[in-house]
Amino acid sequence: PTAEPAILQLKNLRKSFGALKATDDVSLTLRRGEIHALIGPNGAGKSTLMRQIAGGMKSDSGTVHFAGHDVTPLSTVARARAGLGRTFQISSLAMEYTVLQNVMLGALGHEGGAMRFFRPVMARTDLIEQAMQALQRVGLENHAAKRTSDLSHGQRRQLEVAVALTLSPKVFLMDEPMAGLGASGSKRMTGFLDGLRSEAPILLVEHDMDAVFALADRISVLVYGRIIASGTAEQIKADPVVREAYLGA
Ligand code: ADP
Ligand code: MG
Repeated sequence: PTAEPAILQLKNLRKSFGALKATDDVSLTLRRGEIHALIGPNGAGKSTLMRQIAGGMKSDSGTVHFAGHDVTPLSTVARARAGLGRTFQISSLAMEYTVLQNVMLGALGHEGGAMRFFRPVMARTDLIEQAMQALQRVGLENHAAKRTSDLSHGQRRQLEVAVALTLSPKVFLMDEPMAGLGASGSKRMTGFLDGLRSEAPILLVEHDMDAVFALADRISVLVYGRIIASGTAEQIKADPVVREAYLGA
């Protein structure tokens, strides 16, 4: 995919919390057809960066270009509607609502908390259909009427994928989709993500290195808010700086 044009381009992104530089001059591209993995130790700034891309966290400086447009001034909802995927995280689900309702909200580009938007939407059959299709793709169609709080951890992860699918994003942003899934769940998710890349490229934050090495066309390593290395799985595995800083070898 190196010849493909960049669909997502981050330039010099920074975000500080007080004296802490969570992301510190991060530039990175995601090209069509690729899975680009972002790895790094806890606290490296990976989730902060994902939020800066999705729009949930305002950057101190730097720009996000998506599909040829500067989306830096846009809100999360506007970015999601433009096709920039939402971040994948269970915390955005509304636990007291049903599985189907959560997916329908996702189809509108809203986070689970934005329930004031919900009532008039209940009756929209086009949205119901779209949401059911997404549930089918992740294998949750028989749980549509369940309360989200009654789902297992693995099912909540599947639900978040369904929410991410609803807007047919041009880019998927996934923050640790394998977390807490166990071996068989991780394997299933790996296969699912592998198939997803033909639909839209994926920026994937993940700690499961088996999954990362199996999936990623390129890997960037973030440490203390800075990208210290970027390359193919082979290059990253062989990089002495990365081995010392992150892989612990
Ligand atoms: P990662 O996802 O790589 O584990 P995070 O992006 O979550 O890292 O966090 C990077 C650093 O920024 C950490 O030191 C974290 O404590 C801090 N941090 C993240 N979000 C906030 C916030 N909202 N307020 C203050 N500090 C934060
Ligand atoms: Mg994180």
